Amino acid sequence: MAVNDGPDLRVAEADTGSLGRALGALIPSIEGAFAPDATARGAYTAQPLSPAPENGSGLDGVVTELGTYLEDAASLTSPGFCPFIVQGPTTAAVAARLAASVGGVRYFLHSMNYLEKLGLRWLAEVCGIPIPASGVFVSGGSVANLLALGAARQRAWESQGTDIAEAGMSAGPACRIYASELAHRTIHRSAAVLGLGRSSVVPIPADRHGRMVTDALRSQMAEDKRAGYLPVAVVAVAGTTDLGSIDPISEIIAVSREYGSWVHVDGAYGLPAYASERTRGLFEGVADADSWIVDPHKWLSTGPGIAAAFVRDGDLLTRAFDQGHAAYLEDVYHDEGEAVSAYDSIAGPWADQSLELTAPPRGVVVWAVLREIGRRGVAARVEKNIALAKLLAEEVSADENLELVLEPELSVVCFRYVAAGLNENLLNDQIVTELRRRTLTVPSTTVWDGKVVIRPCFINPRQTESDVYALLDNVRDVGSQVVKRLA
Ligand SMILES: *Cc1c(COP(=O)(O)O)cnc(C)c1O
Repeated sequence: MAVNDGPDLRVAEADTGSLGRALGALIPSIEGAFAPDATARGAYTAQPLSPAPENGSGLDGVVTELGTYLEDAASLTSPGFCPFIVQGPTTAAVAARLAASVGGVRYFLHSMNYLEKLGLRWLAEVCGIPIPASGVFVSGGSVANLLALGAARQRAWESQGTDIAEAGMSAGPACRIYASELAHRTIHRSAAVLGLGRSSVVPIPADRHGRMVTDALRSQMAEDKRAGYLPVAVVAVAGTTDLGSIDPISEIIAVSREYGSWVHVDGAYGLPAYASERTRGLFEGVADADSWIVDPHKWLSTGPGIAAAFVRDGDLLTRAFDQGHAAYLEDVYHDEGEAVSAYDSIAGPWADQSLELTAPPRGVVVWAVLREIGRRGVAARVEKNIALAKLLAEEVSADENLELVLEPELSVVCFRYVAAGLNENLLNDQIVTELRRRTLTVPSTTVWDGKVVIRPCFINPRQTESDVYALLDNVRDVGSQVVKRLA
């Protein structure tokens, strides 16, 4: 504590030691929040936001308060939590994140930077992405898609003789990005940010399994070629968010090549399933694409905030995202080989291959997850989660009150409660709302084939068969009550 003019004006200074004491006090609360149990709506969200404190509370005050807040945190680790595609971290991921938080930035020549490079390489190998590809860790699939499509845009305009990153959008033909009608909306947002416009994304119909119809892609590309559109990219989704369906990647690549287009694989959710021999065949052709993304914060349980973009031609990624010359960075671009001090080299091209300069070494967490369980552990997790999806699908098919709307391909299940004479979309919407309010089962909904469906996604390593049966019990129970209410 520094003392100002008098005893009442003590200013709290940051404690730069005492980590053991702080963590020791906090860990019981962290473990409490880590324990599998869904939570009710947090009491804190209704509280007014207080003004910034004039006087600090000191380290012990912060730790005590944090512990209280943790009692009311979202429990993404709960095995009943299965909406969207997000979940909490495993233990190794938490430990690695803590280590990385004090272990520096993703630049310079040091161990955390080395682990980041290993994390990228191992992730690529496990997901079937060819190693010469350049990778960069980013905050999520949204940014990863933006980077990959930024590289695709760069290449499309270079083919017309323009360096778009330098010259801007003023010149150039109208262009197209092709993606399944089930593609993630971050594709559209990327197109908007890249100046191509959301309207440049042409939805290609999916078949009844949720896979892109490549004949429709071919005729759309042919028509657009006649009309003079420049094809920027075709997006193949390797695990759609709504259904878990996988586009026919090698067929898409074949069609795209006929029209000279880049192929981007959005594997944010599904690409880790390449690790298993049982599902690898679904990704045939994946190594022949031009760019890929995968989100370790989905199936690899790193906890939110970690995705990766890979581009086959790293120089293209650099030309698209280069910052240009900066006097303040002049000194750090030495070759790694020449470096003597850890700070002689920036040690990675990422500052000019992404949207971030300063960034945490996110790859340390990916390294830790893969170091702990290996490729076979990823395969086993994927197989286990898919088996749970299949078990749920079988149980649903055998129940006359339930309808399986789509056979699961990965670990998303789309099913619904049926009741003749009732508005079944409203019914299923209300069932999911009630499930969230009254049970530990937290799925989400989506719409497929005009039907509102209950949509759990199994990616959590803590999930077991008993969670599937609990989900079924809860759906049956809540379903019969909502039916009575709506009848
Ligand atoms: C989740 C997801 C995204 C977006 O990723 P975020 O990490 O949420 O930004 C993109 N594409 C697909 C297929 C996804 O499932």
